[in-house]
Amino acid sequence: MPIARKDILLWLHETAAVMAENKALLTQLDSDIGDGDHGANMQRGFQAVVQKLPELEDKDIGTILKTAGLTLVSTVGGASGPLYGTMFLQMGSMTMNKDHLDLSEWTAALQAGLSGVVMRGKANPGDKTLVDVLQPALAALAAAGENGLTLQEALLAGAQAAEAGMRGTIPMLAKKGRASYLGERSIGHQDPGATSANLLLQTAAHVWRDSI
Ligand code: ADP
Ligand code: MG
Repeated sequence: MPIARKDILLWLHETAAVMAENKALLTQLDSDIGDGDHGANMQRGFQAVVQKLPELEDKDIGTILKTAGLTLVSTVGGASGPLYGTMFLQMGSMTMNKDHLDLSEWTAALQAGLSGVVMRGKANPGDKTLVDVLQPALAALAAAGENGLTLQEALLAGAQAAEAGMRGTIPMLAKKGRASYLGERSIGHQDPGATSANLLLQTAAHVWRDSI
């Protein structure tokens, strides 16, 4: 079964709960190498998205994702608001008028989202940002598609690569965002944005495991 509109709505709903549960963790990570607002930013942004969900129930996937992106842009400040906002806006553009997404369509949507993040933030792989989670997750999804894995298997492979990508930010030297001001002192800390990006993809793999 492909990813349906109701699955996208469920993902956004669960993501808000997961961001709230992990607020303290994201705050701690961002206190270590930033200004400590990432937990509050993610919780506020996705809570605002959840408030939009009732009016999106009968909309296509593109409209749902675009609305989420606009909501994130307008409610989350800092670096992550425009970056996640752009990611969801681009994912929405790629899925306009669609009611279902198969593996290749989901991969294309996430690819568009990553391209938006890179266009906006100019981060390269290895710069210790959310790109270090999105990029390997996408590579795993694309490889899964080429190898004929099912959607569920591909989502799990993507989530595993996301987790590894998140851990991989620990030894990195930050080259973008506030953490880059710390130079060498950013080494040895997990990137907060990479952590929230991993939560997004873990939640997708988890909530869609049973429903699609
Ligand atoms: P701020 O840094 O403005 O306080 P947040 O704390 O909400 O914003 O988000 C910080 C996260 O944003 C970082 O951990 C990093 O993953 C991500 N980030 C910062 N700058 C960039 C960038 N140029 N490209 C991609 N991601 C970035
Ligand atoms: Mg911050």
